[in-house]
Amino acid sequence: MIDVHFPQVERLVLDLDGLADLVDSSRPGWSRVAMTEVDTQSRYWVAERMRAEGLDVRVDGIGNVIGTLRGRGSRRKAIVVGSHTDTVDGGGRYDGIVGVVGGLEVVRLIRESGIQLEHDLQIVDFYNEEVNRFELSCLGSRAMAGTLTASHLATTDDRGRTLGDTLSAAGWDPQLDQTRWADDEVLGFLELHVEQGPVLERQGLPLGVVTSICGISRFRALFSGQRDHAGTTPMTSRHDAGCAAAGVVLAVEEIASSAEQAVGTVGSVTFTPEATSVVTESALLTAEFRSPDEGWFTLAREQIAEAAATQSARRGLTHSLEWSPWERPTAMDPRLSGIIGTSIRQLGHPAAQLYSGAGHDGVQMARLGPVGMIFIPSVGGRSHCPEEFTDSKQIAVGVHALAQSVVNLDQEGLS
Ligand SMILES: [Zn+2]
Repeated sequence: MIDVHFPQVERLVLDLDGLADLVDSSRPGWSRVAMTEVDTQSRYWVAERMRAEGLDVRVDGIGNVIGTLRGRGSRRKAIVVGSHTDTVDGGGRYDGIVGVVGGLEVVRLIRESGIQLEHDLQIVDFYNEEVNRFELSCLGSRAMAGTLTASHLATTDDRGRTLGDTLSAAGWDPQLDQTRWADDEVLGFLELHVEQGPVLERQGLPLGVVTSICGISRFRALFSGQRDHAGTTPMTSRHDAGCAAAGVVLAVEEIASSAEQAVGTVGSVTFTPEATSVVTESALLTAEFRSPDEGWFTLAREQIAEAAATQSARRGLTHSLEWSPWERPTAMDPRLSGIIGTSIRQLGHPAAQLYSGAGHDGVQMARLGPVGMIFIPSVGGRSHCPEEFTDSKQIAVGVHALAQSVVNLDQEGLS
C-alpha cells in the first residue's frame, strides 16, 4: 500500500480562511446561505481554487462545482469526494467546508506523493445542502441523483415565489435532465465531515467511520376541543386541547429516550386561542424522530398514535395525526467503510464506528453508487452555531484519512 503524505495544515487554514471571508456580514456567525449573493461568489471562489490545482472545472446548472483530476486509466467510473460550502443562517466555519477544502488538499497530496490515480477523481462542492426556506435540503446532490423534480421547483416560499424562480434569480439554470448523473459513473463517494455531535470528543477519538445516516420521520398532530372560560369551567368539564398536546410532547421525549439510538424533538406547539383566560380550543404540534434503525420507526409511530388517542379520549377531544413522507436510514457501503477503516489503521489511528444523526448529501449519492463517510470531532459537539470548532490539526488528520482512502479505493476497487 502506498502511504500518502501528511497534509500541510497551513494550506488548509488558508483555504478555510478564504471561505470564512466570504460571508454575509449582516448576519451572525459565518453565514453563507444558499441562493444569496455571497454563496454564489464563494462557489466561483471554489471553482477558481480548483483551477489553480489544475483540475478541469465545470459548474452545472444548479450550481454544483465539480473539479476533475484525470486518472491515467480509461475507467468509466470516477471516485467522487465532496461536501458543501453553504451554511445555515448563523452557522459555523466547518460544517461541510472541511470536506470541500479537504478535497482540494487531497488533490495536492496525491500529486506530492507521486501517485497517479487509475480512476478520475472528482471533487464536488454540492449546491445548497442545508435546509432552505422551501423546506428542502441537498438540492445539488438531489439534482445529480435525479431525485430533484419539477414539483420541487414549483414549491413556493412564504412570499409566494417558487424555488425554480429563486434559483434563476440567483443565476442558476436547473435543467434537471442535464444535471443528472448516469447510474454507472460513481465507483465510490467519500465525504469528510465534522461530527456535529459529542461522541468522538468524549471518547478521545480523532476519527470515526460512519456506519449509517439516520432516518427522519416527521408528524403533525392536531387536537380540537372546546373554547371555554378559564375561570368558570370546572376541571372535570373541560375539553382542553392544549393539555392533550402537552401529553404528546412528553410522549415524544419518553419514546425516543427508551430507544438506544433514537432522538425525538417537538419543534412547535401552537395554541388557539393564545389567551391565558381561555381554555384552549385547538392545539397543533409538529415533531420529528431520528434513528439509524429502520425497524424502530414502526414502533415509534404506533406509540405516538396510542399516546395521541389516549390524550384525546381522556378529554373528549377529536384529533388527527399526519406523518410526512419519511426519509429511511441510509446505510454506508460496508466495502467502502472497510477501505476507510483499513486506511485509518494504516495511518496509525483506531477506526471507531458511529452513526450520523444529521442528514448529508450521501443520502442522495447512495442512489448513484457506494457511499462512505469519515467524521472528525466537533468541540463540545456544537454545530450550526458560530461556536462550531474543530482544530486545524484534527482537520488535517481527517484529510489524511480521506486521501489515503481515495488512493486505496483507486488501487483495490470494490469487490
Ligand atoms: Zn454539513
